[in-house]
Amino acid sequence: MKNIYLNIYKSNLVNLKKAKNKLKNNGIIGIPTETVYGLAGNAYSSKSIKKIFKLKKRPHFNPLIIHYKNLNSLEKDVALNSNFKKLYDSFCPGPITFILKKKKKSKISRAATAGKNTVAVRIPKHKVAKNLLNIINFPLAAPSANVSSRLSPTSAFDVADEFKNKLDFIINGGRCKIGIESTIIDLTKKPTILRLGSITVANIQKVLKKKIKILKHHRKIKAPGQLRLHYSPGIPVEMNKKYVKKNQALIGFGKKFKKTKNYFNLSKNSNLKEAANNLYKTMRKIKKNNFKSIAIVKIPNKGIGSAINDRLKKASNK
Ligand code: AMP
Ligand code: MG
Repeated sequence: MKNIYLNIYKSNLVNLKKAKNKLKNNGIIGIPTETVYGLAGNAYSSKSIKKIFKLKKRPHFNPLIIHYKNLNSLEKDVALNSNFKKLYDSFCPGPITFILKKKKKSKISRAATAGKNTVAVRIPKHKVAKNLLNIINFPLAAPSANVSSRLSPTSAFDVADEFKNKLDFIINGGRCKIGIESTIIDLTKKPTILRLGSITVANIQKVLKKKIKILKHHRKIKAPGQLRLHYSPGIPVEMNKKYVKKNQALIGFGKKFKKTKNYFNLSKNSNLKEAANNLYKTMRKIKKNNFKSIAIVKIPNKGIGSAINDRLKKASNK
């Protein structure tokens, strides 16, 4: 069998220049960010965007997050407002994505925003993502580097496993520090959280000094019956369980842990950040070990725990 990991490249300057050339020629590459790995292409090139949708098998109505090196480059494409400025000062660069109004003169491909007049924008913090953005003169559309509806990848090896020989260039930036996707907040109207993440609702409320709405069902851009199952490891997931069935693995959280082959622990110290970081990695491992389904114990619904439960609900199709 061909070694699929030959497509993984160290993040040195020579390889970043190779990455730049690929992107300039409408190529698509895997890149690290502090949240999860992204499948990146030139956001101004519809050719590149089409390739991303095809590789991910992503429905065309589901828009992509556009990544920028700094505020100056971001301002070329979207209109900023006072809520944005406050959140930018507190959390950027970092794991937060803003929905803002697209400027008329913006060059972002229509396909990337699914024809909408709003854009999801983010300034990532990961050193390698920043170094790459600094040597190119366009922003990067970079959805999570997984086939649509599946788990996001948290290492370069996960990305290689996901796309096999369909992707020939992945930059290795190590394991993602956060390990779940960015918080998404819509700032085109009364601030509304569209996706929970490591920057919590409480963190955001503290900065904006008001109560923030959380959208429970992100239905607007969904077509009927689609995108229900998301963040799926490819086997059934059952939440709030204590015991396992035959051929099932149990994911635990906290001190009580057993030393059996079918038991995995997200954090022995009951640390929710550590648990979030281990979530996708653990589910991928369980799938690789040929278990037929996953049971997971109750995870405290506070702080980043809410984001973990959000992903689990979608993975279990609830
Ligand atoms: P991913 O790129 O896989 O991290 O997912 C990006 C998420 O951002 C998806 O859930 C999109 O629906 C959402 N998104 C991107 N652009 C917009 C937009 N203009 N308005 C609302 N949601 C968006
Ligand atoms: Mg995704």
